[in-house]
Amino acid sequence: MPVPLLDLRAQYAPLREEIRAAFDRVADSQVLLGGPELDAFEAEAAAYCRSAHAVGCSSGTDALVMALMALDVGPGDDVLLPSYTFFATAGSVARLGARPVFVDIDPVSFNVDLPALCAAVTPRAKAIIPVHLYGQCADMPAILSLAEERHLAVVEDAAQAIGAECGGLRAGGMGNVGCFSFYPTKNLGAFGDAGLLTTQDAALAERLRMIRNHGSRRRYYHEILGGNFRLDALQAAILRIKLRRLDAWTEARRRNAARYNRLFSEAGVVCNAAAGIPRDFESSASLILPHESPSTGKSAPRLDGDPFPGHRHVYNQYVVRVGRRDAVIAALQAAQIGHEIYYPVPLHRQECFAALNYPEGSLPAGEAAARTTLALPVYPELTAAQQEEVVAAVLRGLRS
Ligand SMILES: *Cc1c(COP(=O)(O)O)cnc(C)c1O
Repeated sequence: MPVPLLDLRAQYAPLREEIRAAFDRVADSQVLLGGPELDAFEAEAAAYCRSAHAVGCSSGTDALVMALMALDVGPGDDVLLPSYTFFATAGSVARLGARPVFVDIDPVSFNVDLPALCAAVTPRAKAIIPVHLYGQCADMPAILSLAEERHLAVVEDAAQAIGAECGGLRAGGMGNVGCFSFYPTKNLGAFGDAGLLTTQDAALAERLRMIRNHGSRRRYYHEILGGNFRLDALQAAILRIKLRRLDAWTEARRRNAARYNRLFSEAGVVCNAAAGIPRDFESSASLILPHESPSTGKSAPRLDGDPFPGHRHVYNQYVVRVGRRDAVIAALQAAQIGHEIYYPVPLHRQECFAALNYPEGSLPAGEAAARTTLALPVYPELTAAQQEEVVAAVLRGLRS
């Protein structure tokens, strides 16, 4: 039986009537931008993210651009960010004329490495963009204290991490501003593109609202430079319906992750990376489970799915590191099991950033991650039987 990487039709089926009614409500009102659906969604999303303010926008990428515009990031500024993330984290910086400064990742958590981040702060540094990769918060207490000491703004790229927690705080509510994506593959997915910004700062929220609408508060009077970064009322209405299910979906993702951890452990293929990743790992028949811990570094993965107090991984992706990745992928393909490599090329090695001059080997942990990571299906509707098929195929590949 084929297993997709994500099954959006399974998510839609039980919501069909409710979503179609919301569609009719917006269509009948013909209030298509702004209005009551947007206001209600922003209030509900702010509460969910434990942020004082939320500003809906057109995509996660636009949220990052808007956040950097609101903080006046531009030519002459450096912005520190991890080398191993989705392209938009760095693209948004470069598009504004600022320079992305790539920082290597912690090989166990995949999030930005703290000692490397401290060492990378330049005199021109203006902001840090920590990414909560795969749904787990970066080490925010340490990042926030570095930012305070060096007078840097913090823009959380929380695109994969809605509802993730760190020290009891929620993703997007810790830095100066948080950026979310509702791209359909994210834990909260719109009907197309949509995004959100969160902040505890009323003045910054006001600035973001202006930037969303060509820098104006009053129509045709433009105080600052902005753009068209608006969120459709229809998207807001649909997101409101899905937001009410988000915690149940997140718990299902966490249960699925814990089940994978248990199945792989029982199969005896798990490599404990607490003391570092073994030299011969890439040719070995072993696998490293996702790390789940309140800080980067060296604790073992949790098999029971119980969170550390105040820490919550929301598993937008369940990403293992595998030895013999090509063989594992061949086995998954043969069994028609969805999988993906997030990401095959770290950002400092992307062609468009060649002029920034990061040679091969310059940020080795991100490069090693690109050679070994593999995302397996973890979506909420996935069944135990499907997970057993996925595990069996991975084991066939490792042992082939
Ligand atoms: C998805 C994603 C984005 C961009 O979001 P879009 O809504 O697709 O523009 C940015 N950063 C990360 C880490 C993402 O995963």
